[in-house]
Amino acid sequence: MDKIFTTAEMLLEVDRKSIEEAFACKIIDTYGCGDGMGGASQCALSQKYHINTETSIMEVLDKDLKTKTQPGDTGEIVLTSLHDYAMPLIRYAPSDQAIPSAAPCECGIKLPVLDKIVGRVSDVFYLPNGRVLNGLSIPFEGLIDKLSKFQIIHEKPHLIVIKLVVTPSFTAKDEQDIVTLLQHNAGEGIAIEVQIVDDIPLSAAGKHKYVISKVEY
Ligand SMILES: [Zn+2]
Repeated sequence: MDKIFTTAEMLLEVDRKSIEEAFACKIIDTYGCGDGMGGASQCALSQKYHINTETSIMEVLDKDLKTKTQPGDTGEIVLTSLHDYAMPLIRYAPSDQAIPSAAPCECGIKLPVLDKIVGRVSDVFYLPNGRVLNGLSIPFEGLIDKLSKFQIIHEKPHLIVIKLVVTPSFTAKDEQDIVTLLQHNAGEGIAIEVQIVDDIPLSAAGKHKYVISKVEY
């Protein structure tokens, strides 16, 4: 096998590592939005995503959906389809986030590039202390053998709950490390509560949600 293509859901680093090790080949992650005919594919030479400008115009905009996001900052993906003649979608915002790149890709392909696909807008917590926390940015790589499932919930403005389904090798120190890391990322005035649970039920759509926000922003 030469390469593996992944799409549809966010590829967590922990899953990327596990799949690449299991199949002994590199993953090319892709972003696709069928409604807006938009897409971007990770470069074979770098970690950046080349935008498929042949099928749609992809803009990355600030929260107001008007201002162009600065390279290196996180913004919202907005797509205008170039091939839907019967019902064109113009500046369609599928609630996905990305970081536009400041520099072209080193591979030499001239297509515009994204540094990263960040995830769904709903994966982001806007905390009352002014911090913006992406639930999927928390690195769980070191805990791959100790956790079978996790879910991070913005339960109340000042409270983040993390649910863990743990394996027998999980220790009290691991729990403390997770709290310390989350506390560091969330900042002052945010409480972190860990709940060790037997299972985390799937959503009504049958998906496992890593991140849930119950707070209106
Ligand atoms: Zn490239």
